[in-house]
Amino acid sequence: MKQKYQKGIFFGRPPLGYNLIIANGQKSIIINEHGRLLAKAFKWKAQKQLPTFIIGEKLRGLGVDVSDKHLSRVFRNVFYCGLLSNKMLGQEIMEGQNWEPLVSKEIFLKANEVLENAHVKYESRAEDQNLPLKQVVKCDKCKNPMTGYVARKKGIYYYKCNTVGCKSNKNAMHMNSKFFDFLDQYKIEPTLHPLIKQQLIANVKNCILDKVSDKDDFQSR
Ligand SMILES: [Zn+2]
Repeated sequence: MKQKYQKGIFFGRPPLGYNLIIANGQKSIIINEHGRLLAKAFKWKAQKQLPTFIIGEKLRGLGVDVSDKHLSRVFRNVFYCGLLSNKMLGQEIMEGQNWEPLVSKEIFLKANEVLENAHVKYESRAEDQNLPLKQVVKCDKCKNPMTGYVARKKGIYYYKCNTVGCKSNKNAMHMNSKFFDFLDQYKIEPTLHPLIKQQLIANVKNCILDKVSDKDDFQSR
């Protein structure tokens, strides 16, 4: 088995989008109709940078039985760009010999780059957490944005105006709590959360789907 893998020969059940055909004792792996749609899905990810759940919805609408979770595994499976990776091969990745790739390696890489970037990494510093209004809140006297600092000895945070001759100084905890009070007026009743969530998702989906005209996609085939 390992020798076969090392030659780049795949055997067993091929992934979604491919059929295993046996004719005259010869096995061959061929792209099926769903595979052609998955190829589009890769392009939607790579070129249009659509979120996976939107692509999943489009595919299911076109008759492909794939969950969003499965789809994100599809996007990461090198098989689709013609490469063979397997536990038996360890770190080695072979050029596949007995199937046709769905997408080019360029599109595969681009799609994975988009997936990677979708997870924006945040670095949070203690200072940011204690001074969330830094540069946002304005000095009540001179209207300039306030910076912040910590009085190290006591560990107390302050917002500070840097305008010459103003130098207004405010306790950050006090200001933050005032801001929380202000935000309270925009609070939504918990009983309404599911409805609002549903509506927001619907709005976002419509917004994104509008940008992707299926007509364009099919005409460019
Ligand atoms: Zn000021």
